[in-house]
Amino acid sequence: MNGSSLRDLDRAHVWHPFTQAATAPDPLVIRQARGSRLETQDGRVLLDLISSWWVNVHGHAHPALAHAIARQAQTLEQVIFAGCTHEPAVRLAARLAGLLPGDLQRVFFSDNGSTAVEVALKMVLQAARNRGQLRRRIAACAGGYHGDTFGAMAAGRGSGFFSAFHPWLFDVDMLPFPATWHGDEQVLNREARALAVLDDYLATWGGDCAGLIVEPLIQGAGGMRMCRPEFLRALAQRLQACGVPLILDEVMTGFGRTGHLFACLAAGVTPDVICLSKGLTGGFLPLSVTVCRPWVYEAFLQDSFDFALAHGHSFTANPLGCAAALASLDLFDDPGVWEHIATIAALHAQRLQEVATLPGVRRPRQCGTVAALDLEAGREGYDSELAPALKSFFLERNLLLRPLGNTLYLLPPYCVTAEELHQGWDAVAEAARVFGGGRA
Ligand SMILES: *Cc1c(COP(=O)(O)O)cnc(C)c1O
Repeated sequence: MNGSSLRDLDRAHVWHPFTQAATAPDPLVIRQARGSRLETQDGRVLLDLISSWWVNVHGHAHPALAHAIARQAQTLEQVIFAGCTHEPAVRLAARLAGLLPGDLQRVFFSDNGSTAVEVALKMVLQAARNRGQLRRRIAACAGGYHGDTFGAMAAGRGSGFFSAFHPWLFDVDMLPFPATWHGDEQVLNREARALAVLDDYLATWGGDCAGLIVEPLIQGAGGMRMCRPEFLRALAQRLQACGVPLILDEVMTGFGRTGHLFACLAAGVTPDVICLSKGLTGGFLPLSVTVCRPWVYEAFLQDSFDFALAHGHSFTANPLGCAAALASLDLFDDPGVWEHIATIAALHAQRLQEVATLPGVRRPRQCGTVAALDLEAGREGYDSELAPALKSFFLERNLLLRPLGNTLYLLPPYCVTAEELHQGWDAVAEAARVFGGGRA
């Protein structure tokens, strides 16, 4: 089928995610992809500098992952995971337990980031109830995003995406997130204020709180807002002192994004529960895990089903996804991958410093392979008037970038070459000159 008939059929039948179809341009028809390059149906080659919505890790069509999935498909493609188990899932669970800090040992599988968050919330709420504790509150950080299912929306209501559903979202206590950037002179004050609010909250509600969920080091969809590891450590210490479980949503930050395998390792924090997805399978297949410490799991062990976690998905621990995840983790054992990650981080640092001097560029910031800045705009945030123009500006330059409102960011797959990354930065610098300074 050619590109235009595909587009016609798409227009007739497909509903795309996070898209206002009334005003959105036609979708790009992607025929194939390799490494950091996407090829459209009409032969254009685009650089994927957002890792296809933050999932791709080692590059598209990586032969090791493709091979692992094909081999697994010929052996065991899927089996019910209640009452059955299989080698790919068992090996993946054990492998993750070995890579995560502390005693994060018990792995619950689901199939996307939102469900990993739902499971985490249900784990801490039911663990409290099973232990006979009246802990009914959930806390989260303002500006955080945790997915699009109802519990995840409730925890991420501060992201501003879900106003249509607010009447149906359960209450979540929102605490400040002291986002910071290069040259931010107020960060210590902002952190101190955030910790004071947390202290007050814990003093009043600590005994009622079943858990606090936060994206460690980087709030992704909320606008690539970054905090210092020192803040995360201080937050974790306070929660621990009050016996409030910490849930880290590492759906985006996991698997090398921050320059470390996990942001919790970068920050030196061990949560009670951690959520992983996106890069888990190298970005090849939908899979996620919610990993908890033994005390959480043990709270469910009683001789009545009423104490069990009544949660499961048809494709829980899908063997193809597990095989892909194991192959992706194998690639992380290659020091070459970590050299690539370090090269990306160094190049980001160098180019960000230069772009930060342009007028109209605000809040330059970086954490590992993620670099971001805000363009001064009339309207800030996701519905900034700049966003559609910026998107097409980059597309004209054959770059797949997806600004979050007036926030520009680069989040490339680790196979990206220095030359490709420079192309991205050249375009960001040009965009800052064209769009920066409050001009729409
Ligand atoms: C993307 C994301 C989610 C949701 O994951 P899905 O797979 O899209 O459901 C949750 N938390 C964070 C931090 C994310 O970036």
